[in-house]
Amino acid sequence: GFKCGIVGLPNVGKSTLFNALTKTAAAQAANYPFCTIEPNTGEVAVPDTRMREIAKVAGSKEIIPTRISFVDIAGLVRGASKGEGLGNQFLANIREVDAIVHVLRCFEDEDITHVDGRINPVADAETVETELMLADLESLERRTEQMRKRATGKDKEAATLLPVMDEALALLRDGKPVRVMLKGIAAEDLRILRGLNLLTSKPVLYVCNVEEGDAATGNEFTKAVDAMAAEQNAETVIISAAIEAEVSQLSDDEQVEFLEALGLEETGLDRLIQAGYKLLDLITYFTAGPKETRAWTIARGTKAPQAAGVIHTDFERGFIRAQTIAYNDYVTLGGEVAAKEAGKARDEGKEYVVQDGDVLLFRFNT
Ligand code: GDP
Repeated sequence: GFKCGIVGLPNVGKSTLFNALTKTAAAQAANYPFCTIEPNTGEVAVPDTRMREIAKVAGSKEIIPTRISFVDIAGLVRGASKGEGLGNQFLANIREVDAIVHVLRCFEDEDITHVDGRINPVADAETVETELMLADLESLERRTEQMRKRATGKDKEAATLLPVMDEALALLRDGKPVRVMLKGIAAEDLRILRGLNLLTSKPVLYVCNVEEGDAATGNEFTKAVDAMAAEQNAETVIISAAIEAEVSQLSDDEQVEFLEALGLEETGLDRLIQAGYKLLDLITYFTAGPKETRAWTIARGTKAPQAAGVIHTDFERGFIRAQTIAYNDYVTLGGEVAAKEAGKARDEGKEYVVQDGDVLLFRFNT
């Protein structure tokens, strides 16, 4: 599955947010309650109103949402890249996630100590990012050196990797995260960059943790974070961890009322998950039948056999074709049979790139 790692300095609200998210997720998805995989990892159901519509038409008994994981990665201190504190473990944990959710303190509260004694989310972001950049710089310098030796020996692979590594290295030496290379990057270079598994090439979502009153509007701190994020190819979401903690205790009806009173349309969970989805460039396809309507997560650009493989590796291995009905056709025409009669069910082969919302039925050899 896809994993987002929650990072940030101490006392910015990471645990509050993580606990609220996982509680809300448990309350909202009775079928798939939040389940703890490891102490600090939780899977949350991805809210998607399309599932209900499909289930109605298909007469499904059950709705099974797709899920993404959040990992609470505590333990960042200055000097982490030098192995101080739990530094090495912290960096190793980040290496394993697909995207970084970086929580920034954008609220004032004299009772809650800030590690540097002042509220400055942009400086906080830089503190964390600096540790990640230093770790990348060290690992990349070492690897580039080895690669350069191979490249002079006419090693073809080294010759293709080296320009990408050098570009990343130049950015890091200039104090910039490798992420800034991602804008408009060629597919082949992106593949190489992903293979390097650098910390600062992972997509970042900045979560501005604000006071209740600022949740709908943001504040001067969140504006500063927005400006920083725009320069870095990063996204931002404004959330009040304190509100989320309260919402997580309420029933569905109470939640709607509570959020309305604060001028909010959705819970932070919904916005965070949607932003995470966007960040990871993920899309959803559906399978539907009398037993269940189920959502599945794939990376945008995934072809039909690999999409089938998300359900079961046998589906990928024995893939023959995929009966494909677009979500709108499926719902407006009234299901599989009607869509077939209207000529809206297509048989797609191995090269078909699955689209967001496709309702799929796989044919495969066992
Ligand atoms: P972590 O160290 O980043 O995991 O931070 P915690 O989640 O433990 O939060 C540190 C302290 O800040 C706790 O006392 C929280 O109750 C408090 N806190 C978290 N979010 C907010 C917020 O939005 N407003 C205020 N005033 N306090 C918050």
